[in-house]
Amino acid sequence: MLPFHRPHIAKNQSTYVEDALRCGPLQGDGPYTQKVCEALRALTGAKGVLLTPSASGALELCFWQMDGADEVLLPAYNFPSAASAVLRGGGKVVLCDIDPATQNMDAEDAAARITKNTRAICLTHYAGIACDMDAFLALAATHGLLLAEDAAHAIGATYKGRALGAIGQCGCISFHATKNVTCGEGGAYLQRQANPAWDAAQMRRQKGTNRRAFEAGEVEYYSWQTVGTSLLLPEVCAAQLLAQLEELKAITAARCAAARRYDEMLAPLYAKGALLPMHTPGYAGGNGHIYYIRCPGALAQRQKVQAHTAAQGAPCLPHFVPLHLGAMGAALGYKKGDFPHSEHAADSLLRLPMFAGITAAQQATVCAALAEVAG
Ligand SMILES: *Cc1c(COP(=O)(O)O)cnc(C)c1O
Repeated sequence: MLPFHRPHIAKNQSTYVEDALRCGPLQGDGPYTQKVCEALRALTGAKGVLLTPSASGALELCFWQMDGADEVLLPAYNFPSAASAVLRGGGKVVLCDIDPATQNMDAEDAAARITKNTRAICLTHYAGIACDMDAFLALAATHGLLLAEDAAHAIGATYKGRALGAIGQCGCISFHATKNVTCGEGGAYLQRQANPAWDAAQMRRQKGTNRRAFEAGEVEYYSWQTVGTSLLLPEVCAAQLLAQLEELKAITAARCAAARRYDEMLAPLYAKGALLPMHTPGYAGGNGHIYYIRCPGALAQRQKVQAHTAAQGAPCLPHFVPLHLGAMGAALGYKKGDFPHSEHAADSLLRLPMFAGITAAQQATVCAALAEVAG
């Protein structure tokens, strides 16, 4: 069976882990964390970067404290983390539909759902393909909204040449084992400006204390300043991230090359309309995180293709169950039919095996299985 994902292991990964174990400290925010944060600041242009145990934790920092009436717009075709973070922060989740060309939040649909209570938009750059940032920046500016980016898929991906994650005020990257750069479980919180919200985010992550100011020698003792939790990443994980980030360009290039090979191998099926290709708008520089196809025969064809590729040892998998179709969606008052493009994506989309080391021969197996069932 061809693996669907396979985490990349970087050349220096075990050396740095060994060094982190030997030299310490084992807890978070040591020298490896500092180097990773520096690399992520350089990559994304974020002024503030904090490593966290997950992107989900970073999203909690984005939406930590909302007023009860605050509404946050999120795409229905999405992973649940950002929606949970909004609810935990005391805000309201307002779902939007997606643009079927990109599976990203549709700016017009979002605009139509803005009320006097809307406070934020939280975008997800699906598959590492950028959302239409100019449209969302304009919408956020017009209505005075916070623009947050769930860039969990998107390390190394760009919008008009700018790295994703900190084009809006805050965002996250995921280092989960299925993502392009990984330490097993991990994430980063990104903040565009180091404004007062930056101090608050640091205190919340450090158990509600001003430990950062203490470590910088600005105060004599650190003490309880606000409601917080612990959202640090251990140094052994940061050490792995540093080794991986040293190879970010190579990882991204390998995945993008694999995506181009899929494009070439599947061109005959696309030309016949037997399968539909993914679309990359001109403003988006992808990172090869996900390569997906869509089945023109929707759910019935997708299930058939999925079963056949699994049987051939070349598994192709659907992705999100739209947020409104889970138990939480129902609890928020949504129902089937509310977001047709999101439901169509869930029905028709299949992701192909993708990882940095995938070979042309392995990809040919996937494409042969697809041609047998869809051709
Ligand atoms: C993977 C993922 C997350 C969660 O990342 P963790 O680091 O596992 O918390 C959030 N949003 C999206 C879009 C994801 O794909």
